[in-house]
Amino acid sequence: MSNIAIIGGGVAGLTAALLLARDGNSVTVYEQANALGGRGRTRTMDGFQFNMGGHALYRNGHAARAMAELGIELTGGVPPSNHHGRIRMDGTLEVLPATPRAIMQSGGLRGMEKLSWLNILQKIMRADAESVHDVCWDAWLAEHVSSERVQAILLALTRLTSYVNHPDLSARAALMQLKMALKDNVLYLNGGWAQWVDKLAVAVRDAGGTLLCGQRISGIELIDNRPKIHLTPTNSSTYDKLLLTTPPATIHQLLPDLPDFPNMQPVRAACLNLGLRQLPIPERSFAIASDAPLYYSVHTHSARLTERSGEVVHLMKYLGADESAEGALEELETFFDQLQPNWRQHEITRQYLPTMTVMHAAPLAGLHRPSVQTALPNVFLAGDWVGHEGLLVDASVASARRAAELM
Ligand SMILES: Cc1cc2nc3c(=O)[nH]c(=O)nc-3n(C[C@H](O)[C@H](O)[C@H](O)COP(=O)(O)OP(=O)(O)OC[C@H]3O[C@@H](n4cnc5c(N)ncnc54)[C@H](O)[C@@H]3O)c2cc1C
Repeated sequence: MSNIAIIGGGVAGLTAALLLARDGNSVTVYEQANALGGRGRTRTMDGFQFNMGGHALYRNGHAARAMAELGIELTGGVPPSNHHGRIRMDGTLEVLPATPRAIMQSGGLRGMEKLSWLNILQKIMRADAESVHDVCWDAWLAEHVSSERVQAILLALTRLTSYVNHPDLSARAALMQLKMALKDNVLYLNGGWAQWVDKLAVAVRDAGGTLLCGQRISGIELIDNRPKIHLTPTNSSTYDKLLLTTPPATIHQLLPDLPDFPNMQPVRAACLNLGLRQLPIPERSFAIASDAPLYYSVHTHSARLTERSGEVVHLMKYLGADESAEGALEELETFFDQLQPNWRQHEITRQYLPTMTVMHAAPLAGLHRPSVQTALPNVFLAGDWVGHEGLLVDASVASARRAAELM
């Protein structure tokens, strides 16, 4: 049995804490915020439950599978795939070709493009993602897809599934996410991701773990290979092992001796969360755009996110590398005007988050994320920028599991 500290009470920290506590270790989680959850938090405003921007759990990703194994049952609903979905192409709303009926109806694809759309979807499902880690998604598309419109729709779907708006996105990451989305879809969670965070927290405490909020770690020393963590200059504790789930930049401040993590480019999004009395066009619940990196989804069509009557709408702009969020709010509102004219008269509440970090390391072609095991003894890492497996929260959970195994 070891005495273990975990820094960060997001999904990665809580998952590792649960695994380690159930294995009989003494585990303490330090979270700087006053609540657990990190980017998986949910905020209630005027009775509407908002995640930190639209969040969906891949039903067959690492995270969902790990939670099933751990007995953390997550409830919610799958967003519908139907002919009501829209894709904006060259300024015009077209039917998103998501189902056979929608493909038939869609003006986004013309004549033989409908056949090549079906062919490319089959090719994606059969493709070996692992073999194209070093290939850019743009290059993969140029080699396999001749129609510009088919390419444009696929790029929009890749932004949707990976959140990445970068020309060097790796074909491995793009294929991995598209395959998961096309085969098993995603789950919007009842009560938002707070449901997940709360269930993990209860399970950690039941297993004997300690969860401390409002506790910011300001420094770390290694003394005889044992990590000593400092809350204040006079308040510190020594552990056998340490897991860091904080952002890479924080890790450098805490442990300057660790080598640099090169080529980390964060993936960011501007998020507009809205609580509406009703939708002017109720059946229109999902849209993306090929002429701009935009997303719209009504999460209350699949998950319970309010006790009152009304809808939770998430809009998002996938920001490019180094792109500022200036003008993003107007762009999101204009997109929504086009999808749901007169929505403004139904608005009850809103939350605008202009620059959220979705992932700390964009999965670019050829990038190797740092491994869970660091160069320092008894110090481990987990998060969505760590390890080889998965993207987004799937990477956080996969690296947390791996760290728990190694610890
Ligand atoms: C807008 C948006 C949309 C997203 N959509 C999806 C999605 O649809 N599907 C998906 O799979 N993923 C999605 N994600 C990504 C997902 O939210 C994250 O990958 C996941 O929540 C990360 O969990 P984590 O525990 O690794 O990190 P975090 O949640 O960031 O947790 C790290 C914790 O460390 C704490 N901390 C930092 N420094 C210190 C310190 N010095 N002392 C103590 N505590 C500290 C922080 O406060 C934080 O709570 C989205 C993210 C965003 C922002």
